[in-house]
Amino acid sequence: MSADPISVLRATFGFSGFRGVQEQVVERVLSGRNTLAVMPTGAGKSLTYQLPAVAMPGTCLVISPLIALMHDQLRAAEAVGIRAATLTSVDDNREETVARYRRGELDLLYVAPERASSEGFRNLLRAAPLSLFAIDEAHCVSEWGHDFRPDYRLLRPMLDMFPDVPRLALTATADAHTRADILEQLGIPQDGLIVAGFDRPNIRYHIAPRDSVTRQVEAVLAEQPGPGIVYAPTRAGVERLAEKLGAKGRPVLPYHAGLDPEVRRRNQAAFVASEEMVVVATVAFGMGIDKPDVRFVVHAGLPKSIEGYYQETGRAGRDGDPAVAHLFWGADDFARARSRIGEVEAHRQQGERTRLDALAGLVETAGCRRAVLLRHFGEDPPETCGNCDNCLSPPKVADATQVARKLLSA
Ligand code: ADP
Ligand code: MG
Repeated sequence: MSADPISVLRATFGFSGFRGVQEQVVERVLSGRNTLAVMPTGAGKSLTYQLPAVAMPGTCLVISPLIALMHDQLRAAEAVGIRAATLTSVDDNREETVARYRRGELDLLYVAPERASSEGFRNLLRAAPLSLFAIDEAHCVSEWGHDFRPDYRLLRPMLDMFPDVPRLALTATADAHTRADILEQLGIPQDGLIVAGFDRPNIRYHIAPRDSVTRQVEAVLAEQPGPGIVYAPTRAGVERLAEKLGAKGRPVLPYHAGLDPEVRRRNQAAFVASEEMVVVATVAFGMGIDKPDVRFVVHAGLPKSIEGYYQETGRAGRDGDPAVAHLFWGADDFARARSRIGEVEAHRQQGERTRLDALAGLVETAGCRRAVLLRHFGEDPPETCGNCDNCLSPPKVADATQVARKLLSA
């Protein structure tokens, strides 16, 4: 017996209706069928397991790769009155959490994937009824994905110990190959795949070869009101660029994993609160930050993949108002990326090469950027979007050829 989803949506979450494919995902989950939901960042993936977790008896076990993300999710869930807990190495209330689980007092229990292989933990799971397995960031299970985590391979044996508990895998970013692999790895049938539309029509895409990146980024900042994020490839690059951009008088803060945690926390909080701040950051910045009014995202170097580019640019314009994404790339970015591929395990090199080729296809196209992005995610978009650099001012063929030549000579 489960409660009516719409009434749970209103009563617990305070939302008036489902968004996009949420309803379809929730219905499948409530009917006990295994599902993979591919939904862009900000589309509301959490709700698709949180709502069933509230509506169904038993505890929903949520697998999540990052402790910081789990704690954000925990706060958000508790804020709407969901009975939730995390069970991680940094929690000091683990005994209490275990006791709450045993008493059936948790709707949601967040854990990291490595816990799945612990015999003690599996025994604990048997001690009380489970409603659902929610596997967040499910692309981590696939070597074809852009962020493979070997720990995710520990999940399958645990899932198979509970064949009656439905599985919901969630990801924002998976191309067709990765999706097929996730289904296979997690034992989800092909008809369990639900894909949401990926288009972010309010984001205008600009991609250009790099000459002087500082000057190019300065030019963007001069035109573009904030708040905004500038991604630089390295910590040193972040420091350098933050200093130069800050000298122009605009509020600019750096963010990367090498900074003191307290400084990072402070800079992130200042950004979230500000209407004009620019953060210069490595890609470590942005995950789990819910700031709807980011007006621009700049990549001062090549992102890791189309998935990464889509996810990072997707942090702009979540409020639906116009936003801009700029990418400045150099042939040397591709040269470096190629030499890095030489260093990964042999069986992963082909996947990495395919990923880099897809990225090359995006930066060198003389056609619509959005069409390239959406096709990458399996959609069938119109030839032109009217809201990217190439659609707004079609490049001369000569220019495009020159760019391609520069790329191929790398
Ligand atoms: P994702 O994990 O897909 O990136 P989240 O689950 O973090 O997205 O949700 C993004 C935002 O959308 C959150 O602020 C959430 O409260 C909001 N949201 C989710 N579902 C709905 C809905 N049906 N109506 C309104 N807002 C929603
Ligand atoms: Mg999420």
